[in-house]
Amino acid sequence: MKIQNYINGEYKDPMADSWLDNYDPSVGVVYGQIPNSLEEDVDLAVEAAEDAFPHWSNTTLELRSTILQRIADLLLENLEEFARAETKDNGKPIQLSRSIDIPRAASNFSFFAKAITQFPSESHESVGLDAINFTLRQPIGVVGCISPWNLPLYLFTWKIAPALAAGNCVVAKPSEVTPLTAYMLADICMQAGLPAGVLNIVHGLGQTTGQAIVAHPKIKAISFTGGTDTGAKIASITAPMFKKLSLELGGKNPNIIFADCDYDKMLSTTIRSSFANQGQICLCGSRILVEESIYDRFKSDFIEKVAELRIGNPMDDQTDIGAIVSKPHLQKVVSYIDNAKAMGGSILYGGKELAVEGMQKGYYLQPTIIEVKDNQCQLNQEEIFGPVVTIMSFKGEDEALQLANDVKYGLSSTVWTNDLNRTMRFSKNLQSGIVWVNTWMLRDLRTPFGGQKDSGVGREGGVEALRFFTEPKNVCISFEKGKSS
Ligand code: NAD
Repeated sequence: MKIQNYINGEYKDPMADSWLDNYDPSVGVVYGQIPNSLEEDVDLAVEAAEDAFPHWSNTTLELRSTILQRIADLLLENLEEFARAETKDNGKPIQLSRSIDIPRAASNFSFFAKAITQFPSESHESVGLDAINFTLRQPIGVVGCISPWNLPLYLFTWKIAPALAAGNCVVAKPSEVTPLTAYMLADICMQAGLPAGVLNIVHGLGQTTGQAIVAHPKIKAISFTGGTDTGAKIASITAPMFKKLSLELGGKNPNIIFADCDYDKMLSTTIRSSFANQGQICLCGSRILVEESIYDRFKSDFIEKVAELRIGNPMDDQTDIGAIVSKPHLQKVVSYIDNAKAMGGSILYGGKELAVEGMQKGYYLQPTIIEVKDNQCQLNQEEIFGPVVTIMSFKGEDEALQLANDVKYGLSSTVWTNDLNRTMRFSKNLQSGIVWVNTWMLRDLRTPFGGQKDSGVGREGGVEALRFFTEPKNVCISFEKGKSS
């Protein structure tokens, strides 16, 4: 199958007629082609977005909201088709695509369809100076949205929906590794009556297509989710151009387990927070820190539960762990495991590639648990982004906090405890954008989302996303005092 760009309301081949292979990771074979778009394709998309902006930014909130809600409804009407496409392209278990990825993509649209109708701005009376100030929140113009492969449609729409709701026109690029559902979204947008040029989707590589979006002088803001190194590169290009920038980057998240927790809930959630989506979620708790008194019990129970996970065909309803997204990524994850072995690391479970029957060339890897003693080891400091977790013990609160914060990243943390005072201490002192207590990945779309330290800059979600995608303007009106004042 051939995927095309979506520019000015129509599907288009890349101008240079250059194409890239798209792989099905479950069987390791090419199943389609995607545009290898270059600067000229991005230029065309920006032109279409610029032309569409005056009309879209002046479209009533009611109509914008109706169109976005229609996109959400159409996604849900076509849920099964989208879920199967996501699983084929990414290798994630079908039950995950069905229950999380596609419903959440629809929620992104329906959430921002409503949120924009409730988006307030401030006014400030300058008492004694006889003036009133109000804040106009205006759409920025043409904005760029760039997303990764791990939650393809989920994260693509997380950016596009608020950008459109706020009245911007968008040039967006999904990951070249998982382009299929973004391609299908274009069709839904046409059916929903989104005017031509309001959303443009350009496919291609990061260093060409992505870079052309980032460096385009007419694109005034960039919302990017992806790796920390890529984020740094994007920041170095956009900073001298004074673009607005939102960066959602990598993580190395601690999962801190105290002996007083609800043990069963902790154990089953920790299986998910370690290995959901083959561990390829930026929020996965890849460093498990366990209080010394329950360390041995946890270790044996965790291994036993992980051994029950079913690895196999992502399209099978019973599969818990599907394929790793690509061969290069599989090789990267395996190299971390090999390094750990070479350095005498203790592999408690897994660590081996697997051949799934009938899918011998697919990219499968066992969920892997490695015991470590030193938080400074490579496994605990670098983001692996695969089904690999480390476990280590700690003695008390002070040590747990020190270990948790002792990384360059600061995306999310999870704490398991039933002590309210400890909950408050950790909530205040953990250096991360999100702290989950006695849960994981429980998301409310109104909350600020993003990371501290090398995990990013800025926040998205709820009102934060609408603030990012608008330019606040202070209007100050002086008035004359009447006789009565
Ligand atoms: P990546 O940085 O390689 O690519 C992300 C996107 O950026 C892709 O669309 C890619 O084509 C594009 N890109 C690459 N180089 C570019 C450049 N020079 N200019 C412009 N665009 C460029 O990341 P990935 O491998 O696709 O995704 C995995 C990473 O994403 C992990 O580090 C993970 O933690 C992170 N992530 C973060 C969050 C979050 O919300 N913080 C969510 C999901 C994933």
